[in-house]
Amino acid sequence: MSTSMRDDYFDLFDLRVEVVAPLGARLWCGSKIGDYFEVHGEMLQFQPGMAFSLYSLAAILPLLPAKQRPTDPHDWMTTDAEIACPDPNCPSRLRITRLGNRRFRHGDTTATLLKAE
Ligand SMILES: [Zn+2]
Repeated sequence: MSTSMRDDYFDLFDLRVEVVAPLGARLWCGSKIGDYFEVHGEMLQFQPGMAFSLYSLAAILPLLPAKQRPTDPHDWMTTDAEIACPDPNCPSRLRITRLGNRRFRHGDTTATLLKAE
């Protein structure tokens, strides 16, 4: 990661968010085991035929920017990767997996200028 004016690149992890649950369990939030979407930068990449409850999305959205960034190995944000469905009767979880790095340029992602060093 760099903050110099000539090299304004930074890396974020792509993420996959996948529905996991005990086999045969009834899911009350409308998803199916194995349904997933990916996060590339700020964009959610949904797949054809896979739908997600807005309540499930509301539960997981605040965690995604932290999961996109490197975290300390001792940080719970590094080790914990499953978010429970907010419906207390639903056994599903959303599992966040870090995929490869994607490189961005500061100047392509914001109009705010970097401070001169
Ligand atoms: Zn659910």
